[in-house]
Amino acid sequence: MVNQENINVVARIRPFSAWIGTNRQSCLLIDPDNSTITVKSPTKNQKFEVNTVFNEDTTQASIFAKVGRSIVDGFVEGINGTIFAYGQTGSGKTYTMIGPDALEPNVSTFSDENRGIIPRALEDIFATLNAEVKKKPDSFKFSMKCSFLELYNERLYDLLQDNDATIKIQSCLEQITVVGAAEFEVTTYEECMHHLWRGWDQRKVAETSMNRESSRSHAVFMLTLVTEHTEGTVINRRSSRLNLVDLAGSERQGLTNNTGVQLKEAGNINKSLSILARVIRTLASSKPAQYIPYRDSLLTFLLRDSLGGNAKTTVVVNIHPNSEFVGDTISTLTFAVNVQKVKNTARVNEA
Ligand code: ADP
Repeated sequence: MVNQENINVVARIRPFSAWIGTNRQSCLLIDPDNSTITVKSPTKNQKFEVNTVFNEDTTQASIFAKVGRSIVDGFVEGINGTIFAYGQTGSGKTYTMIGPDALEPNVSTFSDENRGIIPRALEDIFATLNAEVKKKPDSFKFSMKCSFLELYNERLYDLLQDNDATIKIQSCLEQITVVGAAEFEVTTYEECMHHLWRGWDQRKVAETSMNRESSRSHAVFMLTLVTEHTEGTVINRRSSRLNLVDLAGSERQGLTNNTGVQLKEAGNINKSLSILARVIRTLASSKPAQYIPYRDSLLTFLLRDSLGGNAKTTVVVNIHPNSEFVGDTISTLTFAVNVQKVKNTARVNEA
């Protein structure tokens, strides 16, 4: 059986699109009881096993309960966490991570029921931390900061401030840190959501004014938390980071009509996803002590601690059931199976 302890890989199937193309059928046979998906293609059927399979009827609330809560619990305890959504464009990554309101042109309200993993995680984090403060007003305190980055064409952009020339990823005391990005102290769910939407809007502005096509960029919402428990004269300080990532579409290059600059960009964007797949394959291989090419892309460098390092990681692979996408579905599920073989350590970070 696969390692489920610190790396959890789940597949979420979005509803079938009856309007796409002429092949109006699903290419999947789903067996949620055994967590398997069989992909039917004209030549052969391929069966894939992941930790959990969620079909198209699964609600946002149950996705969060199954994949988000344990990461959030770890984060408030001082354990690094990462949740990322992987899959082709249109497979439901943003729907899963943020919710359908993020797909609307102008967001001002947010329907509770359809909220995705990020808003639910933020709500849970503040509820847990504030309950602890209430319980121990004299001996517990916390400080949390958020930042929001976009990674496009092997460059980092700050979605929460205009100046992004200074952002750097550094490996410091064996931990990845991002320096130069705007960080905002957040004390409530509402404040944190305000920054999420601000950054999300900025991402849309950059899409039109700077041609940073959002389906080709990775959006990384980051939280850093420091907690202090005082016991007598001893202060226990812990720090942890949570990365919530909506990755670029993983569709294969051959299916898109890119030319010129766009082709170069697509190449670079695919580079970060192909390095991600290479890092995962190397980590998954049983051969010991191999060089892991984390530094070959900004994405894998940024996520280094989450892949084979000190973090609890959940990967949601989003699947489009339409038979037009059978090739991408097989490659997404192959990625999922490899990720399950990666081992993380996940320990509490005493600061
Ligand atoms: P991606 O981020 O992978 O490009 P989106 O999240 O934008 O995909 O989803 C594409 C479309 O599919 C959107 O219109 C979205 O509302 C719809 N969709 C995706 N997943 C679901 C789901 N589980 N239930 C209902 N609609 C979904």
